[in-house]
Amino acid sequence: MVKAVVGANWGDEGKGKITDMLAEKADIIIRFQGGANAGHTIVNDYGKFALHTLPSGVFYGHTTSIIGNGVALNIPVLFEEIKSITDRDVPMPKLLVSDRAQIVMPYHILFDQYEEERLGGKSFGSTKSGIAPFYSDKYAKIGFQVSELFDEERLKEKVFRTVEMKNVLLEHLYHKPLLNSEEMLETLHGYREMIAPYVCDVSAYLDKALKENKTILLEGQLGTLKDPDHGIYPMVTSSSTLAAYGAIGAGLPPYEIKEIYTVCKAYSSAVGAGAFVSEIFGEEADELRRRGGDGGEYGATTGRPRRMGWFDCVASKYGCRLQGTTDVAFTVLDVLGYLDEIPVCVGYEIDGEVTMDFPVTAKLEKAKPVLETLPGWKCDIRGIRNYEDLPENCRKYVEFIEEQIGYPVTMISNGPSRSDIIYRESPFKK
Ligand code: GDP
Repeated sequence: MVKAVVGANWGDEGKGKITDMLAEKADIIIRFQGGANAGHTIVNDYGKFALHTLPSGVFYGHTTSIIGNGVALNIPVLFEEIKSITDRDVPMPKLLVSDRAQIVMPYHILFDQYEEERLGGKSFGSTKSGIAPFYSDKYAKIGFQVSELFDEERLKEKVFRTVEMKNVLLEHLYHKPLLNSEEMLETLHGYREMIAPYVCDVSAYLDKALKENKTILLEGQLGTLKDPDHGIYPMVTSSSTLAAYGAIGAGLPPYEIKEIYTVCKAYSSAVGAGAFVSEIFGEEADELRRRGGDGGEYGATTGRPRRMGWFDCVASKYGCRLQGTTDVAFTVLDVLGYLDEIPVCVGYEIDGEVTMDFPVTAKLEKAKPVLETLPGWKCDIRGIRNYEDLPENCRKYVEFIEEQIGYPVTMISNGPSRSDIIYRESPFKK
């Protein structure tokens, strides 16, 4: 059986923690999209870790962690990350890397930087990890699959051909130093040595695992609103963030994905540019940012301060729908305990009309939030384990949002650690 953990919004919803929890009962955990451009924060018995490439299952002895074909694989970053956990006494994880995963090349990172420089004020707010140039090359069919590292003839020919093309752009568009094909080939030989022990025909491995009734967990990065098709294009990421893409990015039949846990945070945050209807500013935003997450709302990969906002029912309803949500995991609820009143965005006003339907980008940019204010609960809810024990106003907040988005909240996270979780029966029939 296959389960997926994905985000409903802009990312940073707390997927790392929920994945870590579900991973405890899984056999295999797979990353199926994205690269080292975003990160999960996980707090466990070994300490606090920020993972960018490794699946969240790496802390368990019983799981196999897989980098699927849909991932943008930065081989040196992966190895630094393995070292960063084994240096802190985490046992070496059982790791497999798809032979069809493609490699983030050193020039992808350069092109990401150069393009942001060239765009100046019109840039996309990229994390400059090479993700957009990587996926551009993948779909332009000039990317390098892991398997190609092991075919010297092909590799050499392709490196020379690709470098020649990249150098035209470097010279004439960016006016930057040129690449050297021999050096590039050497770098790839180094990558080959690093990755060789882990290379695997992942779809065949998963097919066998499914026949043996193993539990497989698909681990998404970012959230629906960053999906290149269904998100706030063009302020999106370059690979699909939807659970459905898990079938492709891991190599499994779509009908095997039975449970889709969509993570929603009890308030909103976003990084990078793009419309953010329920955004708040000034002292109100600073306080939520300071109190948010576990030690403040700052990017796990970049350390950038996140943009803050109230919970957005319009965006979250849409986000859950596109994911095909079976369960909502509602996170970071404890953080809101300081507020007397909590505004919630329950509609968008666009050209004088109020809608609950999340619009295309041009309309989204004109949307103004319609807010409804709910009473706060004014206490610390960490440590509570039963839903009934939550303060009444806190339960009302959860139930109000559940009603608005139309998907069942079955998990509530009220603290960063693994044990800070409340399970709840679905009030809807699934
Ligand atoms: P992800 O990319 O979706 O995994 O999100 P992040 O890594 O940015 O996680 C959000 C942050 O919130 C991390 O620092 C987590 O440790 C923390 N966190 C997760 N769940 C909770 C929660 O319920 N309460 C609090 N206070 N912090 C949480």
